[in-house]
Amino acid sequence: MRHPCIYPPRSKHVKHRDYDELFRIIESNSKFVITSHMNPDGDSIGSQMAFYNYLRQKGKKNVSLISHSFTPDYLTFLDKKNVIKVYRTCTEKCNRLIQNADVIFLLDTNDFARTKTLEKVMEDSPAKKVCIDHHLGINKRKFVLSIPDVDEPATSSVLYDLFVYDNPDIINKSVAEYLYAGIMTDTGSFRYPRTTEKTFLVCADLIRRGADPVIIYDKTYNRLNGGKIRLLGKFIESITYYLDGTLAIGTVTQEDFRKYHTDVEDVDGFSAFLMSIKGVKTGFVIVELKNSLKLSLRSKGNINIRNFAKSIGGGGHKNASGATLEPQKPSEAKKFLLEKY
Ligand code: 5GP
Ligand code: MN
Repeated sequence: MRHPCIYPPRSKHVKHRDYDELFRIIESNSKFVITSHMNPDGDSIGSQMAFYNYLRQKGKKNVSLISHSFTPDYLTFLDKKNVIKVYRTCTEKCNRLIQNADVIFLLDTNDFARTKTLEKVMEDSPAKKVCIDHHLGINKRKFVLSIPDVDEPATSSVLYDLFVYDNPDIINKSVAEYLYAGIMTDTGSFRYPRTTEKTFLVCADLIRRGADPVIIYDKTYNRLNGGKIRLLGKFIESITYYLDGTLAIGTVTQEDFRKYHTDVEDVDGFSAFLMSIKGVKTGFVIVELKNSLKLSLRSKGNINIRNFAKSIGGGGHKNASGATLEPQKPSEAKKFLLEKY
Protein backbone atom coordinates (compact mmCIF):
# COMPACT_ATOMS: atom_id res chain seq x y z
CA MET A 1 0.00 0.00 0.00
CA ARG A 2 1.26 3.45 -0.82
CA HIS A 3 1.70 5.67 2.22
CA PRO A 4 0.11 9.04 1.80
CA CYS A 5 2.88 11.60 2.12
CA ILE A 6 2.53 14.27 4.74
CA TYR A 7 4.11 16.97 2.65
CA PRO A 8 3.63 16.89 -1.10
CA PRO A 9 6.53 18.57 -2.91
CA ARG A 10 6.07 22.11 -4.09
CA SER A 11 9.01 24.35 -4.63
CA LYS A 12 9.40 27.62 -6.47
CA HIS A 13 12.87 26.53 -7.59
CA VAL A 14 12.26 23.02 -8.91
CA LYS A 15 9.59 22.17 -11.46
CA HIS A 16 7.92 18.79 -11.72
CA ARG A 17 9.18 18.62 -15.29
CA ASP A 18 12.74 18.65 -13.85
CA TYR A 19 11.86 15.56 -11.81
CA ASP A 20 10.34 13.95 -14.91
CA GLU A 21 13.48 14.75 -16.87
CA LEU A 22 15.56 13.15 -14.10
CA PHE A 23 13.41 10.00 -14.25
CA ARG A 24 13.99 9.87 -18.03
CA ILE A 25 17.74 10.23 -17.56
CA ILE A 26 17.79 7.45 -14.95
CA GLU A 27 15.53 5.21 -17.00
CA SER A 28 17.54 5.48 -20.21
CA ASN A 29 21.05 5.04 -18.77
CA SER A 30 22.83 2.30 -16.89
CA LYS A 31 26.21 3.46 -15.55
CA PHE A 32 26.10 6.02 -12.77
CA VAL A 33 28.61 7.78 -10.56
CA ILE A 34 27.60 9.80 -7.50
CA THR A 35 29.95 12.30 -5.88
CA SER A 36 29.92 15.22 -3.45
CA HIS A 37 32.24 17.75 -1.82
CA MET A 38 35.50 17.11 0.05
CA ASN A 39 35.42 17.03 3.87
CA PRO A 40 31.89 15.59 3.73
CA ASP A 41 29.33 16.44 6.38
CA GLY A 42 26.17 14.57 7.36
CA ASP A 43 24.14 15.99 4.51
CA SER A 44 26.79 15.07 1.97
CA ILE A 45 27.04 11.45 3.16
CA GLY A 46 23.28 11.17 3.90
CA SER A 47 22.20 12.49 0.51
CA GLN A 48 24.72 10.34 -1.38
CA MET A 49 23.68 7.19 0.47
CA ALA A 50 19.98 7.96 -0.04
CA PHE A 51 20.44 8.61 -3.74
CA TYR A 52 22.54 5.46 -4.14
CA ASN A 53 19.83 3.41 -2.44
CA TYR A 54 17.23 5.09 -4.68
CA LEU A 55 19.05 4.18 -7.90
CA ARG A 56 19.47 0.60 -6.64
CA GLN A 57 15.75 0.42 -5.90
CA LYS A 58 15.14 1.54 -9.49
CA GLY A 59 16.97 -1.58 -10.60
CA LYS A 60 20.25 0.12 -11.45
CA LYS A 61 23.12 -2.22 -10.73
CA ASN A 62 26.03 -0.13 -11.90
CA VAL A 63 26.16 2.73 -9.38
CA SER A 64 29.41 3.95 -7.82
CA LEU A 65 29.95 6.46 -5.05
CA ILE A 66 33.33 8.18 -5.32
CA SER A 67 34.71 10.76 -2.91
CA HIS A 68 37.89 12.75 -2.45
CA SER A 69 37.76 12.27 1.33
CA PHE A 70 37.43 9.42 3.75
CA THR A 71 34.05 9.42 5.50
CA PRO A 72 34.62 10.96 8.94
CA ASP A 73 34.35 8.46 11.78
CA TYR A 74 31.20 9.99 13.22
CA LEU A 75 29.33 9.36 9.94
CA THR A 76 30.52 5.84 9.12
CA PHE A 77 27.30 4.43 10.65
CA LEU A 78 25.54 5.75 7.53
CA ASP A 79 27.79 3.67 5.26
CA LYS A 80 28.14 0.41 7.14
CA LYS A 81 29.01 -1.56 4.01
CA ASN A 82 31.64 0.94 2.99
CA VAL A 83 30.21 1.59 -0.45
CA ILE A 84 31.79 5.04 -0.77
CA LYS A 85 35.10 4.68 -2.60
CA VAL A 86 37.93 7.04 -1.70
CA TYR A 87 39.56 8.25 -4.91
CA ARG A 88 43.16 8.12 -3.75
CA THR A 89 42.84 4.49 -2.59
CA CYS A 90 41.70 3.14 -5.99
CA THR A 91 42.47 5.89 -8.46
CA GLU A 92 42.72 3.78 -11.61
CA LYS A 93 39.48 1.95 -11.03
CA CYS A 94 37.71 5.21 -10.16
CA ASN A 95 39.09 6.89 -13.29
CA ARG A 96 37.64 4.08 -15.39
CA LEU A 97 34.25 4.31 -13.67
CA ILE A 98 34.14 8.08 -14.15
CA GLN A 99 35.33 7.96 -17.77
CA ASN A 100 32.81 5.26 -18.68
CA ALA A 101 29.85 6.60 -16.72
CA ASP A 102 26.68 7.58 -18.56
CA VAL A 103 25.66 10.03 -15.84
CA ILE A 104 27.54 11.73 -12.99
CA PHE A 105 25.44 13.08 -10.12
CA LEU A 106 26.97 15.93 -8.11
CA LEU A 107 25.27 16.21 -4.72
CA ASP A 108 25.38 18.84 -1.98
CA THR A 109 27.58 21.23 -3.96
CA ASN A 110 27.15 22.85 -7.37
CA ASP A 111 30.83 23.20 -8.15
CA PHE A 112 33.12 20.37 -9.29
CA ALA A 113 36.06 22.29 -7.79
CA ARG A 114 34.71 21.20 -4.40
CA THR A 115 35.32 17.55 -5.34
CA LYS A 116 39.02 18.48 -5.06
CA THR A 117 41.18 15.75 -6.68
CA LEU A 118 38.18 14.51 -8.68
CA GLU A 119 37.52 17.84 -10.36
CA LYS A 120 39.44 17.34 -13.58
CA VAL A 121 38.53 13.72 -14.29
CA MET A 122 34.87 14.48 -13.52
CA GLU A 123 34.78 17.55 -15.77
CA ASP A 124 36.67 15.76 -18.55
CA SER A 125 34.36 12.74 -18.49
CA PRO A 126 31.91 12.60 -21.44
CA ALA A 127 29.15 11.58 -18.95
CA LYS A 128 26.03 13.73 -18.60
CA LYS A 129 26.32 15.84 -15.43
CA VAL A 130 23.36 16.29 -13.10
CA CYS A 131 23.41 18.46 -9.96
CA ILE A 132 21.08 18.06 -6.97
CA ASP A 133 21.85 20.66 -4.32
CA HIS A 134 20.67 23.47 -2.05
CA HIS A 135 23.48 26.05 -2.43
CA LEU A 136 23.21 29.41 -4.17
CA GLY A 137 25.11 30.35 -7.29
CA ILE A 138 24.74 27.36 -9.60
CA ASN A 139 26.01 27.65 -13.17
CA LYS A 140 23.19 25.71 -14.85
CA ARG A 141 25.07 25.51 -18.15
CA LYS A 142 27.54 23.07 -16.61
CA PHE A 143 24.79 20.45 -16.17
CA VAL A 144 22.33 18.75 -18.50
CA LEU A 145 19.92 18.98 -15.57
CA SER A 146 20.04 20.67 -12.20
CA ILE A 147 17.73 20.50 -9.21
CA PRO A 148 18.94 23.34 -7.00
CA ASP A 149 16.43 24.16 -4.27
CA VAL A 150 17.98 27.04 -2.36
CA ASP A 151 15.03 27.29 0.04
CA GLU A 152 15.75 23.85 1.44
CA PRO A 153 18.01 23.46 4.48
CA ALA A 154 19.68 20.30 3.13
CA THR A 155 20.25 18.35 -0.07
CA SER A 156 18.60 15.50 1.81
CA SER A 157 15.32 17.43 1.96
CA VAL A 158 15.60 18.22 -1.76
CA LEU A 159 15.83 14.45 -2.29
CA TYR A 160 12.83 13.86 -0.01
CA ASP A 161 10.69 15.95 -2.38
CA LEU A 162 12.02 14.04 -5.36
CA PHE A 163 11.36 10.63 -3.80
CA VAL A 164 7.87 11.59 -2.67
CA TYR A 165 7.05 12.82 -6.17
CA ASP A 166 8.36 9.55 -7.62
CA ASN A 167 6.95 7.10 -5.09
CA PRO A 168 6.93 7.62 -1.29
CA ASP A 169 7.52 3.88 -0.77
CA ILE A 170 11.11 4.48 -1.91
CA ILE A 171 11.68 5.97 1.53
CA ASN A 172 12.31 2.71 3.37
CA LYS A 173 13.88 2.66 6.84
CA SER A 174 17.45 3.08 5.55
CA VAL A 175 16.57 5.93 3.20
CA ALA A 176 14.59 7.60 6.01
CA GLU A 177 17.67 7.37 8.25
CA TYR A 178 20.01 8.80 5.61
CA LEU A 179 17.67 11.71 4.88
CA TYR A 180 16.98 12.39 8.56
CA ALA A 181 20.74 12.42 9.34
CA GLY A 182 21.33 14.85 6.46
CA ILE A 183 18.59 17.24 7.55
CA MET A 184 19.48 17.02 11.26
CA THR A 185 23.15 17.84 10.65
CA ASP A 186 22.66 20.59 8.04
CA THR A 187 20.09 22.38 10.22
CA GLY A 188 22.36 22.12 13.28
CA SER A 189 19.68 19.95 14.87
CA PHE A 190 16.85 22.20 13.71
CA ARG A 191 18.18 25.59 14.80
CA TYR A 192 19.73 27.19 11.71
CA PRO A 193 17.85 29.44 9.26
CA ARG A 194 15.84 27.56 6.59
CA THR A 195 14.52 25.27 9.32
CA THR A 196 10.82 25.65 8.62
CA GLU A 197 7.47 24.08 9.37
CA LYS A 198 8.06 21.95 6.32
CA THR A 199 11.38 20.69 7.74
CA PHE A 200 9.58 19.33 10.79
CA LEU A 201 6.77 17.80 8.73
CA VAL A 202 9.32 16.09 6.49
CA CYS A 203 11.24 14.82 9.52
CA ALA A 204 8.01 13.64 11.14
CA ASP A 205 7.36 11.61 8.01
CA LEU A 206 10.93 10.24 8.06
CA ILE A 207 10.46 9.20 11.70
CA ARG A 208 7.19 7.52 10.75
CA ARG A 209 9.11 5.62 8.08
CA GLY A 210 11.70 4.33 10.53
CA ALA A 211 14.31 7.02 11.30
CA ASP A 212 14.98 7.11 15.04
CA PRO A 213 15.82 10.72 16.04
CA VAL A 214 17.33 9.70 19.39
CA ILE A 215 19.63 7.04 17.97
CA ILE A 216 20.69 9.10 14.95
CA TYR A 217 21.52 12.10 17.16
CA ASP A 218 23.36 9.85 19.61
CA LYS A 219 25.47 8.15 16.94
CA THR A 220 26.33 11.46 15.29
CA TYR A 221 27.02 13.75 18.21
CA ASN A 222 27.37 11.98 21.54
CA ARG A 223 30.82 10.72 20.81
CA LEU A 224 33.29 13.31 22.01
CA ASN A 225 36.59 11.70 22.93
CA GLY A 226 39.31 13.05 25.19
CA GLY A 227 41.29 14.38 22.23
CA LYS A 228 38.41 16.38 20.83
CA ILE A 229 37.54 17.81 24.23
CA ARG A 230 41.13 19.01 24.68
CA LEU A 231 41.13 20.37 21.12
CA LEU A 232 37.95 22.29 21.94
CA GLY A 233 39.64 23.59 25.11
CA LYS A 234 42.59 24.86 23.05
CA PHE A 235 40.21 26.36 20.50
CA ILE A 236 38.29 28.20 23.23
CA GLU A 237 41.57 29.63 24.55
CA SER A 238 42.40 30.87 21.04
CA ILE A 239 39.21 32.92 20.65
CA THR A 240 39.70 36.65 20.17
CA TYR A 241 37.06 39.34 19.74
CA TYR A 242 36.85 42.31 17.40
CA LEU A 243 34.35 45.00 16.42
CA ASP A 244 33.00 45.51 19.94
CA GLY A 245 32.70 41.81 20.57
CA THR A 246 30.48 41.16 17.55
CA LEU A 247 33.17 39.26 15.62
CA ALA A 248 34.84 36.22 17.18
CA ILE A 249 37.76 34.35 15.62
CA GLY A 250 39.15 31.02 16.76
CA THR A 251 42.03 28.99 15.34
CA VAL A 252 43.16 25.39 15.16
CA THR A 253 46.73 24.58 14.15
CA GLN A 254 48.50 21.49 12.87
CA GLU A 255 50.33 21.41 16.17
CA ASP A 256 46.99 21.20 18.03
CA PHE A 257 45.94 18.25 15.86
CA ARG A 258 49.23 16.49 16.52
CA LYS A 259 49.19 17.19 20.23
CA TYR A 260 45.66 15.89 20.79
CA HIS A 261 45.68 13.13 18.12
CA THR A 262 42.80 14.76 16.31
CA ASP A 263 41.90 15.69 12.75
CA VAL A 264 39.86 18.21 10.78
CA GLU A 265 36.65 16.21 11.40
CA ASP A 266 37.04 16.98 15.12
CA VAL A 267 36.56 20.69 14.35
CA ASP A 268 32.92 20.00 13.48
CA GLY A 269 30.74 22.09 15.80
CA PHE A 270 33.37 24.68 16.70
CA SER A 271 31.77 27.36 14.53
CA ALA A 272 28.42 26.75 16.25
CA PHE A 273 30.23 27.19 19.56
CA LEU A 274 31.52 30.64 18.46
CA MET A 275 28.03 31.68 17.46
CA SER A 276 26.65 30.67 20.87
CA ILE A 277 28.71 33.41 22.56
CA LYS A 278 26.58 36.34 23.68
CA GLY A 279 26.88 39.36 21.38
CA VAL A 280 28.69 37.50 18.60
CA LYS A 281 27.14 38.12 15.19
CA THR A 282 29.97 36.87 12.99
CA GLY A 283 32.37 33.99 13.61
CA PHE A 284 35.46 32.75 11.77
CA VAL A 285 37.08 29.38 12.44
CA ILE A 286 40.56 29.16 10.92
CA VAL A 287 41.91 25.64 10.54
CA GLU A 288 45.46 24.93 9.42
CA LEU A 289 45.50 21.84 7.21
CA LYS A 290 48.57 20.10 5.82
CA ASN A 291 48.28 21.53 2.32
CA SER A 292 45.79 24.35 2.71
CA LEU A 293 43.90 26.51 5.17
CA LYS A 294 40.21 25.96 5.80
CA LEU A 295 37.89 28.77 6.83
CA SER A 296 34.44 28.31 8.31
CA LEU A 297 32.55 31.59 8.22
CA ARG A 298 29.30 32.14 10.08
CA SER A 299 26.90 35.04 10.59
CA LYS A 300 23.51 35.82 12.05
CA GLY A 301 20.41 37.51 10.62
CA ASN A 302 20.95 39.94 7.80
CA ILE A 303 24.74 39.77 7.79
CA ASN A 304 25.51 38.07 4.49
CA ILE A 305 28.75 36.19 5.06
CA ARG A 306 28.56 34.52 1.66
CA ASN A 307 29.48 37.80 -0.04
CA PHE A 308 32.62 37.97 2.08
CA ALA A 309 33.37 34.29 1.41
CA LYS A 310 33.06 34.92 -2.32
CA SER A 311 35.41 37.90 -2.13
CA ILE A 312 38.14 35.54 -0.90
CA GLY A 313 37.38 32.72 -3.33
CA GLY A 314 34.89 30.71 -1.27
CA GLY A 315 31.13 30.34 -1.18
CA GLY A 316 28.21 28.76 0.63
CA HIS A 317 25.06 30.13 2.21
CA LYS A 318 24.05 33.55 3.55
CA ASN A 319 24.78 32.65 7.19
CA ALA A 320 27.17 29.70 6.75
CA SER A 321 29.98 29.82 4.25
CA GLY A 322 33.54 28.71 3.86
CA ALA A 323 36.68 29.15 1.84
CA THR A 324 39.99 27.45 1.26
CA LEU A 325 43.19 29.48 1.25
CA GLU A 326 46.80 28.70 0.37
CA PRO A 327 48.70 26.93 3.17
CA GLN A 328 49.73 29.48 5.78
CA LYS A 329 49.84 30.01 9.53
CA PRO A 330 46.43 30.74 11.09
CA SER A 331 47.87 33.97 12.55
CA GLU A 332 48.66 35.23 9.03
CA ALA A 333 45.22 34.21 7.80
CA LYS A 334 43.64 36.06 10.71
CA LYS A 335 45.49 39.26 9.80
CA PHE A 336 44.40 38.85 6.18
CA LEU A 337 40.75 38.30 7.19
CA LEU A 338 40.72 41.31 9.51
CA GLU A 339 42.11 43.52 6.74
CA LYS A 340 39.60 42.22 4.17
CA TYR A 341 36.49 42.18 6.38
P1 5GP B 1 31.82 24.45 6.74
O1 5GP B 1 32.28 25.67 7.45
O2 5GP B 1 30.77 23.72 7.52
O3 5GP B 1 32.94 23.58 6.27
O4 5GP B 1 31.11 24.95 5.42
C1 5GP B 1 29.96 25.74 5.45
C2 5GP B 1 29.48 25.95 4.04
O5 5GP B 1 30.43 26.74 3.36
C3 5GP B 1 29.38 24.66 3.25
O6 5GP B 1 28.06 24.20 3.25
C4 5GP B 1 29.79 25.06 1.87
O7 5GP B 1 28.67 25.51 1.18
C5 5GP B 1 30.66 26.28 2.05
N1 5GP B 1 32.08 26.03 1.89
C6 5GP B 1 32.94 25.52 2.81
N2 5GP B 1 34.20 25.48 2.34
C7 5GP B 1 34.15 25.99 1.09
C8 5GP B 1 35.14 26.22 0.06
O8 5GP B 1 36.34 25.97 0.22
N3 5GP B 1 34.68 26.76 -1.10
C9 5GP B 1 33.37 27.07 -1.31
N4 5GP B 1 33.01 27.59 -2.49
N5 5GP B 1 32.43 26.86 -0.37
C10 5GP B 1 32.79 26.33 0.81
MN1 MN C 1 24.19 20.39 2.59
